Amino acid sequence: MKDDNCIFCKIANGAIPSATLYEDEDFRVILDLNPASKGHALILPKEHYRNLFDLDDALAAKVLVLAKKMTCKLKEILRCDGYNIVQNNEEEAGQTVFHFHMHMIPRYKGDKVGLGWHMEQLKEEDKEEILSKVK
Ligand code: 5GP
Ligand code: ZN
Repeated sequence: MKDDNCIFCKIANGAIPSATLYEDEDFRVILDLNPASKGHALILPKEHYRNLFDLDDALAAKVLVLAKKMTCKLKEILRCDGYNIVQNNEEEAGQTVFHFHMHMIPRYKGDKVGLGWHMEQLKEEDKEEILSKVK
């Protein structure tokens, strides 16, 4: 399934040219146009899924294997010191392009990439509520 109005459908399927690092029958891996750091790349499935919530299970299983393969290779090429794998779902979580994608962000000692959050103490009531509802 493709979405005619989706820019990542067009990029993933080659209708719009991109800086492609890797391609197979399921995915295209491209350099991000606005990188958080040198080498910031995106994994795009060729089929259209809005985000993780509707991603096909078989593709979901393959995407982390591909992320492992790509980051292992790219860390040698880029000589970076670490990697963040980031994947945003829905606007409130920072998603701006509504075609599933996984960010692979190389990290370099002393870089200014801002991916942190303020950490709070786990509340007892939250813990009890979530544990009682999840099972
Ligand atoms: P999101 O905020 O949805 O998790 O990430 C969207 C990402 O796609 C951003 O990092 C943005 O820079 C990147 N992006 C948006 N449009 C294009 C494009 O046309 N080409 C490429 N290569 N990256 C894009
Ligand atoms: Zn799409």
